[in-house]
Amino acid sequence: MSTGAAVRVEQVSKSFGRVSALRELSLIVDPGEAIAITGRSGSGKSTLLSLIGGLEQPDSGRVLIDGRAIWSGPHPARARRELVGFVFQRHLLLEALSARANVEVPLIGAGLRHSERRHRALGLLEEVGLAERAEHLPSELSGGERQRVAVARALANEPRLLLADEPTGALDTGTSERVLDLLFRLRDDRGMTMLVVSYDRVVGARADRTVTLADGHLVRAPDASDTPDPSDAPDTTDTLNPDDTDPAHTSTTNTPDPSASNPSDSHPSDTNPSDVPDPGLHAPKAL
Ligand code: ADP
Ligand code: MG
Repeated sequence: MSTGAAVRVEQVSKSFGRVSALRELSLIVDPGEAIAITGRSGSGKSTLLSLIGGLEQPDSGRVLIDGRAIWSGPHPARARRELVGFVFQRHLLLEALSARANVEVPLIGAGLRHSERRHRALGLLEEVGLAERAEHLPSELSGGERQRVAVARALANEPRLLLADEPTGALDTGTSERVLDLLFRLRDDRGMTMLVVSYDRVVGARADRTVTLADGHLVRAPDASDTPDPSDAPDTTDTLNPDDTDPAHTSTTNTPDPSASNPSDSHPSDTNPSDVPDPGLHAPKAL
């Protein structure tokens, strides 16, 4: 059974040379929650996703997944493969491989027989509406189709956490909507936790909440709770969100959706052999 991963970012800082990309940033993401991340270019959004997904280590602070610091444990690459799916702005498919073979790549080393890998990849391609394109090369697909293949690939290991960094940044509006629709539908079906960096209003509208970064910080959102709830505890000094004593939950709008988690999925707990690099994981940063 698969449910979304709980993510807890605690006071994380990360610098690149003299550039502070993140400054003591804290964020709590509940299992199955979908969060939109916005903020100007250079505000630290991609760095935050990289740290949450274990592609980078923080200089200080820590990232806990389901309460554990797995990225500093002994098998971060394996943990990543079993837990996280990434979708980047550029699809980063392997050009020499068919759509199906691209989706199979993360499954290599997952202990599945070839026929099982193939079966699962075809099922995923069907799920993203590309069954009839399975044997096509990326160069034979449109931008939106390629990105849907990338979504299928990201889902191949049935991730409990999906991290998408400007997944529609290179697509036209209509195509973006299809891809975003797909991501949110898959989230609803599978109950995975999802963080999506996007400027798209569709993402903001469909996410459970939106967090905004500025200069490596989370921006505290002015919202309705600026008007304190009279029934709230008398010692509440933080009026931002009276129901939530943890500032890491700070965010804008969108009613939490308790039905977001769908525990109906099975998780491939079968075999987890050695760490096989996933081409999607070592991708260059999205522009
Ligand atoms: P965003 O995704 O919001 O545009 P990033 O997280 O990519 O922002 O970058 C935040 C800051 O950190 C920027 O100033 C960027 O130049 C810097 N930065 C990010 N990654 C690297 C890197 N690998 N090397 C050097 N500087 C980096
Ligand atoms: Mg970025």
